[in-house]
This record gives sequence, structure tokens and C-alpha cells, in this order.
Amino acid sequence: MRAAVLTAIDTPLQILDLEQEGPKAGEVRVAVKAAGVCMSDWHIINGDWPLPLPMVLGHEAAGIVVERGEGVSNVKQGDHVIFSFRSHCGHCRYCAEGRTVLCCGHNDTPRWRMHDGTARVRLNGEPVNQMARIGTFSEQVVCPAEQVVAVRKDLPWAHAAIIGCSVATGVGAVIRHAQVKAGASLLVIGCGGVGLNVVQGARLAGAKTIIACDLLDNKLDYAKAFGATHTINAGKEDVVKRVQDLTSGFGADYAFDAIGGGQTAVMALDAVAAGGHAILVGIPGVTVKAPVSPMQMVYGEKKLTGTYYGSIRPALDFAVLADLAMERRIDLESLISRTYALDQINEGFRLLTTGAVARGVVMLN
Ligand SMILES: [Zn+2]
Ligand SMILES: [Zn+2]
Repeated sequence: MRAAVLTAIDTPLQILDLEQEGPKAGEVRVAVKAAGVCMSDWHIINGDWPLPLPMVLGHEAAGIVVERGEGVSNVKQGDHVIFSFRSHCGHCRYCAEGRTVLCCGHNDTPRWRMHDGTARVRLNGEPVNQMARIGTFSEQVVCPAEQVVAVRKDLPWAHAAIIGCSVATGVGAVIRHAQVKAGASLLVIGCGGVGLNVVQGARLAGAKTIIACDLLDNKLDYAKAFGATHTINAGKEDVVKRVQDLTSGFGADYAFDAIGGGQTAVMALDAVAAGGHAILVGIPGVTVKAPVSPMQMVYGEKKLTGTYYGSIRPALDFAVLADLAMERRIDLESLISRTYALDQINEGFRLLTTGAVARGVVMLN
């Protein structure tokens, strides 16, 4: 079973032949068909998120269920599934509320091992970790069954894959978390895979003014294609001032930080009008802090919230996003700039980090 493995930070992924055990009780084996290349993988490669290695990376993917362990009933062999990068127990306080993304029921085992604490993949007999208990840059994945969700079979594989992270996170942040109102104005900071999905989520929600900012003009061109009504090159213009100019001096109703940085979080808060809502979407490095102004928040009654995984419920919302994609109400085709074979994956990360692609997807099997 070939997989892309990170063995040391700041080194290329290695395509290695791993030994894989079959699924135990409550687990499934999935033949991966497509897996997106995401900044979250890059945060592990470059050491922003220090995690134990070796680890199979990849967390945005889709495939076919080929084997079920004992007691699995949510999917069957042959189902087309999208992976969720959050496992959940089904009975903690968050699961009981339907907020499975926040589940705390499996916190006693590491997030890169199965729920019994053991690994399913090995290299020369030594355990290899799986990112988010999945590790989808693999020909096959054995993982907890609740981390796969069956979806319609006519959905193209690459489209299914990106629903699992960037589409869910970006569109979900708008329609599930912020619940943007029709006619609203909003700012999106960063036009990568997540930011572009915030833009198209905003269009879906009926926002009137959709302002996208980035440092790269080619990404601003993407944002326009996905529905941005205005764009700002943050390297050349004062973003907050431009947003105020475009909103009769008030500032935006909503601002989404799709980057995940201290400066961008403050920019989001500065760019919203009094009574506005700033939303942190991109996942920052563990040491990042943001100097927010409590006074500005009080006087302006501003709201600052975080959203993890777009605050979606994967078991319900993957199917909703699949339908929206098939009805062309969100555009997944134009998001996918490039596809790669598994052994081209390092080129995929090079193009991602230079901003050359909207989304790149590794095609397998
Ligand atoms: Zn991701
Ligand atoms: Zn739970």
C-alpha cells in the first residue's frame, strides 16, 4: 500500500510502501480515489503544528468503501464516501448537541491513531501515524467508520474530495457559522482554497457586496470568477480603508479571515462595521497571538468568533454540498486547477505555497 509519508519536518514527502492491517471493530477500509492538497498538510510539513512523525498526511479526500470491520452500519461496501477529518464519539455533550466537529469523546487517544490507541499502518514493523486518524495521501485508508460519509455516486471524485475540507470550511463558515444575510456586505481575507469557498458561499447566501483581498493578483482574478464584486491587493492598498469606502464609510457587515494569522484577525475586526461580525476561519500556527482592542469591541458591539470546519455537521452537510455542486450552485470544477499522480505530490505543495493554484488534487487508484 503506497502512501505519502512525512518523516521529518521541512523535508519532501516520501512515497513509501507501507504494511496495512485490515479494519478492526468500528473501522472501515477505503480505496482513496482523490485527495486534495491543503495548507493544513503544509503546516505539519513546515513544523507550524509540531506532530509526531512519521505520519501519512492528507485529510481532504474521497473514495470507495472496500471493507467493513465488525459492527459498522453507517456505510457499506461500494459506497462512495467523503472523509471527515474529525472523529466523534456520538455521546459527549457536543455530539449530543449535533456539534460533532467539537467532540471531546476521544481525547484520551492521540488524533493520529485509531480509537484503541494503535496504528493500522507500519513501516518495517514500526507504527506510522495517520493525520486526523485518516491520512488520505494513501492508496487505501483504514480509519474510524464515523469519519466517512456516503454521498451520491454521480459526484466526480475530485469534487467529492475537496468538499471534505476547503469547500466545507469556506462555504460552511458563511452558511452554517455566520449565517450571512441576503444583501449583506462582507470581506474575505485570503483567496486560497478556503477563501474562494467563502466567496462562493457568500454568493450562494445572496450577499450584495463581496470584497476579496489577497497579496496575489492571480488569486484576486480567481475570486472575481467565484463571485467577488470587488477585489483589493493588500500589498498595494489599505484594506480597511478600501472596505470602508466600498460600504458608505461603515465597514463590512462580516469579515472572514481565511488565512489564520494575528495581523489578519485584527484586520477582520477593524474592517467590520459597528455591530459587525468578524470570523476566524483559517487555522493559525500554535504560537500565533492577535492584539485585539477590547474597547473597539465594546464601543462598536463587534463580534469576533472562530469556526472550525465551517461549523458544519459532516454527516448531514457533505450531502447538501454535493447536491449544491451537482446543481452548479457552487462551482467546484473551476476550483480544481491541477491534478497530480501520488508521486507528484511535492510539486503539488510547491504550487500550493507559491499561490499558483486554487486547488490541486492527487488522483489515485
Ligand atoms: Zn484542509
Ligand atoms: Zn462526542
